[in-house]
Amino acid sequence: FSNLANKKVCIVGSGPAGFYTAQHLIKNGPALEIDMFEKLPVPFGLVRYGVAPDHPDVKNVINTFTSIAKSGRLQFIGNVTIGKDVTLNDLRSAYDVVVLAYGAAQDRWLGIPGENLDNVVSARKFVGWYNGLPEESNLKFNLDVETAVIIGQGNVALDIARILLTPIDLLKKTDIAQHALEALSRSKIKNVKIVGRRGPLQVAFTIKELREMIKLPENCYRIHIDNREYIEACLPKTSRPRKRITELMLQSVNLKQSEKKDPSKEWELIFNRNPIEIIKNPNENKVEGLMVGINRLTGNDWENPKIEDTGLRETIPCGMILKSIGYKSLPLSDELPFDHAKGIIRQTEGRVEGMQGVFCSGWVASGPVGVIASTMQSGHDVGKRIIDDLKNGIVGTGTKKPGRDAILSQLTARGVEPVTFVEWEALDNEERERGKFQKKPREKIVDVREMIDIAKK
Ligand code: FAD
Repeated sequence: FSNLANKKVCIVGSGPAGFYTAQHLIKNGPALEIDMFEKLPVPFGLVRYGVAPDHPDVKNVINTFTSIAKSGRLQFIGNVTIGKDVTLNDLRSAYDVVVLAYGAAQDRWLGIPGENLDNVVSARKFVGWYNGLPEESNLKFNLDVETAVIIGQGNVALDIARILLTPIDLLKKTDIAQHALEALSRSKIKNVKIVGRRGPLQVAFTIKELREMIKLPENCYRIHIDNREYIEACLPKTSRPRKRITELMLQSVNLKQSEKKDPSKEWELIFNRNPIEIIKNPNENKVEGLMVGINRLTGNDWENPKIEDTGLRETIPCGMILKSIGYKSLPLSDELPFDHAKGIIRQTEGRVEGMQGVFCSGWVASGPVGVIASTMQSGHDVGKRIIDDLKNGIVGTGTKKPGRDAILSQLTARGVEPVTFVEWEALDNEERERGKFQKKPREKIVDVREMIDIAKK
């Protein structure tokens, strides 16, 4: 297929979506020239900055991504923010195909009073903080409180609960950022309440993460289930994974303190509660509690029940609130067709609406749903469509594109210092070396200037 020869593709974002799209293109388009732009000086997106530090196995995908980057077919160009250092139009002029795989790195808001109070934090910021994401590394939280409420019942909520409650000696052995380890070692948080609008049958977390919570050393727990009979009646209609996780919750309703040696901490799952207002301490700008409305779930569709407000209210006393209600994307240029309500690019099967030659994959296309495996599928599917469109002469038919040379010269003119994959590997080595002193897999460097200096030494 001569249509593929010397065609130039660039990918924006070096998370799973970017790398898996590249993997498909490399395998099926042997003559394509592929570049990958990344905002940070380091690759791997949420695999480095989202996946919990105590989940090292999940991060093994980095080995696959590294071999893709070192295949000789992909040029990694880090420390370049598309939309700031280079525009989408610049990329469209330089490449035959542009793939947007820049994830979802913005917060959703609850839209309730009190969201701006001190110690009301988005899950995204808190996760970025403990994982050493440069822009969140200087955040300060007040962990000098006994109770934290997490709003949301997905895996990110459980990641945060686990990090707050895991004994510090276990966290020390992970690649958690040093500033977070120090702050968590002084934390007074003993009770973490994980609150959801719906019931046990609708939780978004998965069984592995629930099991980890149940097994947390030194922790008791309570899973507040008040309509057991209804749930049991629904079980035969549910899918196998849903059935297993619900059964686990029904079996594990409570572990009393007396059953565990030296219990000091507790987590709770609280259902059917809708956040109404974050209550402020009358004297300071601090959180004192979360007022919730008590919901009743109705309708015959257990998967998507109707949520009815009973009108009843209660206040959960707490000193910290973490909002784990999802991530969203923003458009990186004004002309990009964008669904602001969903926080995703408008697209059909990965083809960006009305923009010939522009594709998107991963969370920026789907929203923040699914795990690395589903993002892999998205990347591969979009890769396939790009190959099809190139082969069929739907894209890449215009004049010969200049590719990376045009962009690199613009970057030089603007004083941007792109970081190559080899330079990232120097930084990677330095982080691993620093980790050895602390008996950790790595000590992440959190200052972008320092990262670049080490990478280019
Ligand atoms: P991302 O991973 O976010 O990658 C996007 C990349 O684009 C980033 O590197 C970003 O810096 C870059 N970028 C953004 N804007 C620009 C720009 N303007 N210019 C250039 N580059 C840009 N999945 C699992 O399977 N197991 C887990 O244990 C797990 N844990 C998770 C924990 C958390 C807290 C979160 C949020 C997610 C977790 N996931 C997990 C899901 C997994 O991380 C996602 O499925 C996956 O990372 C989405 O990939 P992506 O490439 O679309 O986005």
